Amino acid sequence: MQLYQSNQIKIYNSLTGKKEDFKPINEGHVGMYVCGPTVYSNVHLGNVRTFMSFDMVFRYLKHLGYKVRYVRNITDAGHLENDADVGEDKITKKARLEQIEPMEVVQRYTVDFHNILNTLNFLPPSIEPTATGHIIEQIELISKIIDNGFGYEVNGSVYFDVHKFNESNEYGKLSKRKLEDLIHNTRTLDGQSDKRNPQDFALWKKAEPQHIMRWPSPWSDGFPGWHLECTAMSTKYLGDQFDIHGGGMDLKFPHHECEIAQNEAAKGISPVNYWMHANMLELNGSRMSKSTGNTVNPNELLSGDNTFFSKAFAPGVIRFFNAQSSYRSVLDLTDDGLLASEKGFYRLMDGMNLLKGISASGTSTFDVSAWKQKCYDAMNDDFNSPILIAHLFEAVKYINQIKEEKASISVEDLALLKTTMHAFVFDVLGLENVIEVNSGSDKLAGAVDVLIKLRQEARANKDFAMSDKIRDELANCGIQLKDGKDGTTFSVN
Ligand SMILES: [Zn+2]
Repeated sequence: MQLYQSNQIKIYNSLTGKKEDFKPINEGHVGMYVCGPTVYSNVHLGNVRTFMSFDMVFRYLKHLGYKVRYVRNITDAGHLENDADVGEDKITKKARLEQIEPMEVVQRYTVDFHNILNTLNFLPPSIEPTATGHIIEQIELISKIIDNGFGYEVNGSVYFDVHKFNESNEYGKLSKRKLEDLIHNTRTLDGQSDKRNPQDFALWKKAEPQHIMRWPSPWSDGFPGWHLECTAMSTKYLGDQFDIHGGGMDLKFPHHECEIAQNEAAKGISPVNYWMHANMLELNGSRMSKSTGNTVNPNELLSGDNTFFSKAFAPGVIRFFNAQSSYRSVLDLTDDGLLASEKGFYRLMDGMNLLKGISASGTSTFDVSAWKQKCYDAMNDDFNSPILIAHLFEAVKYINQIKEEKASISVEDLALLKTTMHAFVFDVLGLENVIEVNSGSDKLAGAVDVLIKLRQEARANKDFAMSDKIRDELANCGIQLKDGKDGTTFSVN
C-alpha cells in the first residue's frame, strides 16, 4: 500500500479555475513538466521561487509513493526579446555584448543555475532536456502543424495561424482570453508584415545573416520559436497527454496558451490535465524589474551582498520563507519577512534537534495520529505548505513541553512523531538541519569550543568587553552563541 492510495490530492487547475481531485493518467505514475530558465543571465529570483514551489510538489508526490517523471527544460536556443517575434534573441545578444560564443553564455549560466539550485537543496529533475538538443523534434512538429493546415510559411519563416485554429478550437482557454479581444487590443508593430495576423506566433524564424545560433530546416536556416520547444520536449518524454504542467504565472499567456494550441494543432489532443501556475515574487511590495533597479539575484540574497537586506540568509531560511506562503499567492520579499522566517526556521530546527533526545514515558498528552493526518490534509489541499508549517509548530510546542516535563509521549507516538516530522521537514519541505550540516565538522566545533573557553575566561576576569567581542565577532561569521544553564552552545546559520 502506497501513501497516495490513502491521500487524495486536490490541485487547483488553472485551466478550469477549480480545485480538482488529482487522478494521474497511469495509476501510481505522474508525468510533470515545468518550464525551465532561459540561460542568458543569472537566474531570476522570481523563477527560483517558481522552481522551488514545484520542487516541493515533486517532493510531496514522491513522498506519497508516486513514481514521478519530472521534466524541467533549459531554454538554450534563445528566444526573442519580445513576444512580437522580432528583434535579437537574448542569448545571441548577450554573446555579442560579452564577445563570447553563444554556447559559452549557455554553459556559464546553466552552471550558475545548477549551483544555486544545489545550494537551495533542490532535487534534480528526472530529465533536464535542452532546446538545442531537440531541434529535430521541433522541426517534425512544425511539419505536422503545417500538414494539418494550422501553420504557414512566409519567406523562410513559419507561423502558427491562430485565426484558423480558433475556428475549430478554442485559443485563449487557459488564460481566459477571447481572440476577438486580442484582435481589438493588439497594436500592429513594424516587422510583423510576414504574419497573416498579429496574433499569429512564430514556429520557425529564418535567421538573419548575423544570427549565430541557426539550424537547417525545410524552410530556411533558422531557429525555432520559443513556445515550440516545450511542446516538443514535454510530449517527447511524457507522452502526447500528461498529468501536470507547471510554470510561473507570467507564462500562462502567451507561452502556455501557445503550447496547448500547438499540441492540439499537431496531434488533435490537449496536452495537459492539470495546469499549475506559481504566483509572482515581489521585492518590498513592488514588481521586481531590472529597469527600475528593484531586483536582487539569488547569489546576492545568499551572500548578503545587496542593498535590500540587513544580512545574508541561509538557504534553509529562503526555502522556509517560500513555504510559508501558498505557491498561488503573491510573495513579497522584505527584510522583516526574512528575519521573521529566520526565527521560525531556527525554532523549527531547534525542535528537530530536541526531538532526537526526547524519551517516551507513559501515555501521550497530544493526539499524534490526528496531528499527522492534519499535516497530510494540508498538503493534499493543493500543497498548502503554510498550513502544514502551522501544524509543524504545534508539534514543536509539544516537543518543548515534553522536554520541560510538562507533557508526555508514548513509545509508539514518539516513533510516529519522529518519522512524520522528518518526512515533512526534510523530505517534503526540503529544509536542511543547518546545525547538523554546517557544524558536523569536528574541526569547526573544536575551534568554536576554544573561543567559548576563552570567552568564559574573559568573563571570569570581568573582561566583559572581550567576552562581548568574541560573541559578536562569531555572530558576524554566522555562529550564534547561546548561554544556557548547562553552559554555552552554538549554532551555525
Ligand atoms: Zn515552456
